[in-house]
Amino acid sequence: MFQKLKLFVSSTRFKTTLWYSILFLALEILLGIFIYFYLYNTLMDNLDFSLKSQAKAILHVVSEKKMDIDHFVPDSIYSDPEDLVWDIIYNEIAFNLRNNFIQINFKDKIVFRTANLNDDTLYFPKRQAAMNLFNFTDSTLSEKPIRCVKLNSGHYKIFVAFPLQNISQTLNSLVHIFIMLAPIFFIVSIIGGGIISAKSLSRIDAIIKKTEEITALNLDEKISGEKYSDEYGRLVKKMNEMISRIKTSIEYMNQFSISAAHELKTPLTILRGETEIALKSRKTPEEYIEVLKSNYEETIRLTKIIDNLFFISKIDHSIIEIKKERISLDEFLASTAKHLKILGLERNIDLVVDSATNSFVELDKELMIQALSNLIDNAIKYGEESNTVTLKGENVSTDKVKISVLNKGEGIPEEMLPKIFDRFFRVESSRNRSTGGVGLGLSVVKAIVSWHNAEIYINSIPGDTTEFSIVMQRIS
Ligand code: ADP
Repeated sequence: MFQKLKLFVSSTRFKTTLWYSILFLALEILLGIFIYFYLYNTLMDNLDFSLKSQAKAILHVVSEKKMDIDHFVPDSIYSDPEDLVWDIIYNEIAFNLRNNFIQINFKDKIVFRTANLNDDTLYFPKRQAAMNLFNFTDSTLSEKPIRCVKLNSGHYKIFVAFPLQNISQTLNSLVHIFIMLAPIFFIVSIIGGGIISAKSLSRIDAIIKKTEEITALNLDEKISGEKYSDEYGRLVKKMNEMISRIKTSIEYMNQFSISAAHELKTPLTILRGETEIALKSRKTPEEYIEVLKSNYEETIRLTKIIDNLFFISKIDHSIIEIKKERISLDEFLASTAKHLKILGLERNIDLVVDSATNSFVELDKELMIQALSNLIDNAIKYGEESNTVTLKGENVSTDKVKISVLNKGEGIPEEMLPKIFDRFFRVESSRNRSTGGVGLGLSVVKAIVSWHNAEIYINSIPGDTTEFSIVMQRIS
């Protein structure tokens, strides 16, 4: 249960939904803040505008009537100047709909104020006197600050004011609406985010399900969805490519183990067979020597195969240490030939050196001798008897040298050249000849050459010359 919950909480679906909801909520809050301030400014602007308009209108009427409060003469209609002002306000400025506070001062004496002022006074403090818009607090009039506009003209000062309570109420309602909406927004965003992420991740689920089904036994199967050009399509394509590469590697490894087992089995079968025959009946000492000789050859062959396999696996796992040294190419080829001359004795083949390059190269002597001995061994094995094998050194350009091993002989058919460096590949299997090893020699050569950042080429004219050449960096 806990494990399942842990899995769910760490899933991309959960995280996407959570982020989506948080983003949604943050947006709602930002929007709320924006609307709040926008509304506050608009309401204040409107209020200021309406206060100013009302003050202007009052001033206009008061000055139109040319009211001279100092020289007011009571008559049957107006017994004092205040009645006159009231009349003006109600008749000429329509209704004081919002129940604003209105006060008119004449020569700094209050000549009129609306009833809602309850004998209280609208005034601007001294330091704000220069302003014509001001907020002030007067607890007897309103809990909230009061917005007041003041207009001066001649002896008149018109004050029109309005408590900001209404604006606060409107804004508070807005805040309440947003607070109430927040959980609804959150739930909707969780559901929406959940649906969207589930929909977009359903293809990932399909990919996971399919990859779970793929094992070494069904690497032919493909994950479907390559046809889409989006990220999932590209992911599926890359995964299918990876599966093909794994399939090729596994096939190669299988082939390698089959070939290795096969090659190891042959000498072992011979060893076993010959030993069994020798044990069946009594033999003369010469016959025993023959059997031992043959067994000895087979064990040598086995050791060679195992050495090569060991070497190849070391190369595959990059655990070979390469110790390069600067060396004269001509001297290196001469000493190698001297060392390997003995290989040709049996077939009466002379190994000759042809190198006057005056060049230096950087190589691991031990590894390069092993590569050249494999090539020379092949040239002797597959070359014409009583002929020569040449070990040649040449400068091919200012910065490259070529080391070649040439022999005359049957050569290698053109169609087999591309496979010649493959592990366990032998031309003899089609030629049906028993000469040689198991087809690992050239793959070892290729690996050594690659480790020297060099290239190997082959040029073979069947029935004539076969040339293996290594092209490498010349250092002087
Ligand atoms: P092997 O142990 O069989 O010699 P290699 O990997 O050294 O294996 O060589 C692979 C095959 O290439 C050999 O079986 C042989 O048929 C062919 N080959 C290599 N060198 C020569 C050559 N100089 N002339 C003709 N065929 C060659």
